[in-house]
Order: sequence, then structure tokens, then C-alpha cells
Amino acid sequence: MQYCTRCLYPGNHPLGITFDDQGVCSGCRVHEEKDVLDWEERSQRLVKIFDAFRSRSGRNYDCIIPVSGARDSHFIVHTVRHVYKMRPLLVTYNKHYNTQLGIRNLAYLRSLIGADILTSTISPQTVKKMTRISLKKLASMYWHCIVGQAVFPVQTAVRFKVPLIVWGAHQGCDQVGMYSHLDEVEMTRRYRKDHDFMGMEAEDLIQGEDIDDRDVKPFCYPHDKELESVGVRGIFLSNYIRWDTKRQHEDMLKIYKYETALQHRTFDTYNDVDCFHYSDLHDYIKFLKWGYGKATDHACREIRLKRLTREEGIDLVEKYQNKLPDPESLALFLNWLGIKKEELFDDIDARRDPRVWKKRSDGQWQLLDSVINHRRDSGIDSVRLTKKEDCEFSITPSKDPWIKDDQYVLVGRGWVD
Ligand SMILES: [Zn+2]
Repeated sequence: MQYCTRCLYPGNHPLGITFDDQGVCSGCRVHEEKDVLDWEERSQRLVKIFDAFRSRSGRNYDCIIPVSGARDSHFIVHTVRHVYKMRPLLVTYNKHYNTQLGIRNLAYLRSLIGADILTSTISPQTVKKMTRISLKKLASMYWHCIVGQAVFPVQTAVRFKVPLIVWGAHQGCDQVGMYSHLDEVEMTRRYRKDHDFMGMEAEDLIQGEDIDDRDVKPFCYPHDKELESVGVRGIFLSNYIRWDTKRQHEDMLKIYKYETALQHRTFDTYNDVDCFHYSDLHDYIKFLKWGYGKATDHACREIRLKRLTREEGIDLVEKYQNKLPDPESLALFLNWLGIKKEELFDDIDARRDPRVWKKRSDGQWQLLDSVINHRRDSGIDSVRLTKKEDCEFSITPSKDPWIKDDQYVLVGRGWVD
């Protein structure tokens, strides 16, 4: 397997990656734009976009912002609301795997920043049915979350006639350099289906399964005609603001003091703390499918932002990559879905990438390659970035130390089992 000579990404990155003649990946090359673009000028461009969408009557929202109890939610809402003075409607898809901490963070977000919020909570029975199917077809326990998070904001834009949706970073641009910042790529149905939804739309679930139109309706992207009639447009802030999630979190933590936490399979303590599984079982599944996990994503990001050397990044990958899922989180998921561990891993094994995994004659899986074996590839020194600062992630204190965090919280106290 070919690995980038600057960051740690492998050639089998599921979003697609290319390498130049120095062995540097397309993601690293596009990332270089962050240090040369005129971000002040790009911010003015964003002002113009926002001005065009401000509600003329003053009676409707100016834009929609998808949020959660983690990721860049605080930064995005703060920036849009307080820096660019837009009046947003926040929308959140309840992913069902919520930690107490995530629910609290979402509560800080809606009360401290001052914005209205709409929540989509799909019936647990439907979510479980969809998850059983997405595990079987795609080996994904997270598909309903990804689709719900992507579709609910677009449905809300149509329903409330608020045409502008504001997203944070574009993964295709930020991770693999599929687009340049100069392309100012916007949300499209096609990208969503091919990459975020792994090629499967909600309607595809119905065929031959115990699921019907009504079950999948909350996950269906609105029809093109509906999008056109409202003029729905989705922009990514990372095209207009120099994106640095770690720095953004640290700025926001000073103002809003939300909670961060240790993660099971990565060193980043800021993103994805609202979910039991994202940096745990879900990420372990990613590793079993592609041969690398979130620690690689986070190390690549920090190498490009000059806070880790390539070698320090590999050390972190080595520390987290092979970590098994936390047994309690795994049991929680199996119990919730009502399946056996063997069933889960059979589905995953069927989707392992044969470029990095091989089943030996004794039935055990062998990882054929990893960036750990590529510490000293030729050409690394000539494309190396100079580290400028240390990479430390802080943990903020829990606001509720008495509640043991060992079960999903649907929303507030809405969960009945
Ligand atoms: Zn790279």
C-alpha cells in the first residue's frame, strides 16, 4: 500500500486520494492552500453570501445550521450568530447513541448562544431496523446517523422555506483534497449519496426488507423540484474561514466552557464526545474495513497544521489503531440492537478491504500493511513540514460527576426501555 510521504493517509482512503511525484497526497497539497489564501478576502465573500440570504421581512430565519453535542457546533453557531450577525435556526438529528455529556453540551449550545433548535428523533424501532440492514449491506452502524444528520437540515430548509444551510468543513476538501478551497464547493445530492451515504439512499433499504415507505421517509432527501422552489443552497464555512478544529474548539471552550472527554480510540478529546460509539466501536469497524482509524485522520490533520511530526503521528496511530472496542460500549450496542457479537463481526468481515486484509488459512485476519511500516519511506524528509507548536488536547471538568455514563440518553429523559 502506498502511504503519503507527508501525512499518514493510505492509498485506499474511501473518499479517494492521489499522490504526486513526490509521494505527497492530494489532501496535503490542498491543505497548503490554507497558508497562502487571503482569508480576509474570503471572509468578505462570505459576508456577501450571508447578506444575500438575510430574511428581508425579518420574520423568518436567515439560515439553518446543523448541530450536535460535539464536533464544531459551538464554533459554527458562534461564528454565524455573533460574528456575521445572522439569525440561525439550529437543527439536530438525535443519533440515539448519546452520552450524558453530549446531551449537556447540546443544552449549553442552545441556551448560551441564543438560538432556536429543532430536533428530529426517529422512533427507536425504525432506527434499529435500519441499523440492522445497514450493518448487513454496508457494515455500518452509523449510516442512520450520517443520513439523518445530512437529510434533516435539507428537509427543514424546504419545510420552513429557509434556503441557506451552513455546514462546517467539507470532508472531501479537508481530508483528501478532492476539491480546492477555490472551487467553493457546495452541498450536492450526488456527493452525499456517493460518499457520505456510501452509495445507498434510504429508498434502497425498502427492497426485500421488513421496512416501508413511512419508515424511510425521515431519511429521504427532498425532491429536486422542492429544492429548486425554495432555492436551497448549502455552503461550507471551511471555504471562507481557515479551518483548524483544534484551535476553534480552544477559542470556544474559553467562552462557553462545554465539556471535553478522553476518547477510546483517538487522542482528540474535543470532537465526537457526544457519542458512545463514534471514536469507539464505529471507529474500530472503520479500522477493520480500511486498515486505519480515526487516530490516523486526527494525526494527518495535526501534521498538516504543523503540530505533530510524521513520526509523532505514527506513534499515536500505533497507540490507538489496534485498541479493541470498550467491552461495555460493545455490549450496550449489541444489547440495544438485539444481535450477537458473531453476527456483527460476520457482517464486518464481509466488507474488509482485500487490499489491506487477508484471511489466513487458520481463519484469522491479517493486516497486510499499515503506516507503521512506513516510517522511513524515501522522500519523507524532502516534503516534511516544520513543526510549529505542541499538540495538547485538554479535558474540561464534567458538569455532572454523579451520573454514571453507561446508557444511551435519547433526549432529556425521553428514553423508555
Ligand atoms: Zn498527505
